[in-house]
Amino acid sequence: MRFIDIAFMTPPDNFGEMVARAEADGEDNIGNHSDVWRCCKESLKQASFDKCFYCEMKDIRSDGTVDHYRPKSKYKWSAFRINNFRFACTFCNSRRTDRKTGEVGGKGAGFPLFDGCQRATCPGEICNELPLLLDPCNAADPDALDYRTDGAAVPASDGDANPQRVRAVTSIEAYHLNHSELQEARRRAAIEIGENQ
Ligand SMILES: [Zn+2]
Repeated sequence: MRFIDIAFMTPPDNFGEMVARAEADGEDNIGNHSDVWRCCKESLKQASFDKCFYCEMKDIRSDGTVDHYRPKSKYKWSAFRINNFRFACTFCNSRRTDRKTGEVGGKGAGFPLFDGCQRATCPGEICNELPLLLDPCNAADPDALDYRTDGAAVPASDGDANPQRVRAVTSIEAYHLNHSELQEARRRAAIEIGENQ
């Protein structure tokens, strides 16, 4: 995982109007305004050089999607907030089973928090929330992950009580970062890098 800076991302000119229209339609109709996040997809892709924010892979079988870091089902107030948008591949974004290992992964609508932590009900409460999922748009988070030469994603730090280790373990599962196809792609990339050094 690499830090992706979306602070300077430029939305389309009419983005503000689109958001205003979508918000005026009410929380029950969020799904009718997917154009708000879809119109940001190209800018998000450019920010990551076409790679999924979570697993850094270019998805060769689909053109990816705009994921809500805080799922719009649990955080309706965040459905149209541009700083909640992440470009994601289908491995990371959707629940699916790894045919080779039988393991199920993918973020889906999950957004676990540390025990005892209150879910944010408005933007002002985000600073009090402690998500268990690493955020590629938070500069402090990507370093919590490391990759072995066999392609496996692993926590970068030791200590079962270390919060960043706990978050790394949770994120590896939630983003399906050790899906066999991703792991194999990383292993091959590691070999290529080794051969070119
Ligand atoms: Zn991905």
